[in-house]
Amino acid sequence: MPIKTWELDPNFKNEIMNEPGGEHLASCFQCSTCTLGCPITEIVPSNNPRRIIQMSLLGMREEVLSNPDLWVCLICQTCTAQCPQDVRIANVLGAIRRIAEKEEEAGKLKIESSRPLFDKGSSVSGLSWS
Ligand code: SF4
Ligand code: SF4
Repeated sequence: MPIKTWELDPNFKNEIMNEPGGEHLASCFQCSTCTLGCPITEIVPSNNPRRIIQMSLLGMREEVLSNPDLWVCLICQTCTAQCPQDVRIANVLGAIRRIAEKEEEAGKLKIESSRPLFDKGSSVSGLSWS
């Protein structure tokens, strides 16, 4: 996917890190351990949590918030247990989901993907896994 530098939002990473659960985003050093160990990636090959984190750090706000794979994570926490940088990816993904839901509520984004039942209506908002 080509990066449109003029569309990057340098504040996007701060927006995520200001959400509960998103605090450790910037610790990622792109080792791919999370993606290689994710059981969902075997079912949904496009799923790549490392890439979502990279795109978030780059400021690719629109691409991240409209990414259908944002909604396939089942919060199994395998990646969180394996991450050498303690990024707590499932929590970060939860923080990004809440930003997407806020955008939808504001009429700025239409989320086409079906959402996990337990995630409906931001029911996990504020939850934190440590
Ligand atoms: S395992 Fe952690 S440090 Fe490695 S790519 Fe995933 S989030 Fe980043
Ligand atoms: S928490 Fe989500 S991203 Fe992490 S391994 Fe489980 S399904 Fe994959």
